Amino acid sequence: MSISKNITTLIKDIPDYVQLVAVSKTKSNEEIMQAYHAGQRIFGENKIQDMTRKHEELPKDIQWHMIGHVQSNKVKYMASYVRLIHGIDSLKLLKEINKQAQKNNRIIDCLLQIHIAEEESKFGLSVDECQQAIERAKDLPHIQIKGLMGMATFTENQNQIAKEFEGLKNLYDQLIKQNIPLEILSMGMSGDYHIAFQKGSNMIRVGSKIFGPRNS
Ligand SMILES: *Cc1c(COP(=O)(O)O)cnc(C)c1O
Repeated sequence: MSISKNITTLIKDIPDYVQLVAVSKTKSNEEIMQAYHAGQRIFGENKIQDMTRKHEELPKDIQWHMIGHVQSNKVKYMASYVRLIHGIDSLKLLKEINKQAQKNNRIIDCLLQIHIAEEESKFGLSVDECQQAIERAKDLPHIQIKGLMGMATFTENQNQIAKEFEGLKNLYDQLIKQNIPLEILSMGMSGDYHIAFQKGSNMIRVGSKIFGPRNS
């Protein structure tokens, strides 16, 4: 299968309202351009340095999403162009993004990463920390909290994955009921995006299913 066919197949497989982030981490410009020529414009990277290089080298109508863990001291390298930051997991990071966005005269869209997996290893805020971050973000005029992001446990157990996604969707709905204007629920990857959109995801982050396996 080719990258462009994979994209076309995937698009047919997901509902219209679900946005596809093509996760291009470790992939070459040539591979990304194959997806681009198939119509894909949203790409996700997990290293700021790689994303910035690709942003400089590739067409300017690509929207770059930072999906990885972000170190505060590197925010400045992407603040001028990043379209959406998925992995916000601290207030400190929010403040730094606000500061760098201000320098660039922009408002940067952010998602709060919520810890939904069983594994300790995964990053993310607890429900309480999420509520706090939303409160504090009201004083940060150069960021906009657009929604939530989560990663399920890496497991074969579909029920567990479904439960974790359901938990995140419930939190998302609760916040909307509290008049917090969220619009993006980023959950689902190559192995679990079907479960994710059944559970209410409207943004999936898919890498290997488009570009094939990664070596690193
Ligand atoms: C790598 C990555 C993905 C994509 O993973 P695949 O299983 O290759 O689809 C999605 N989200 C995050 C946060 C990632 O780091």
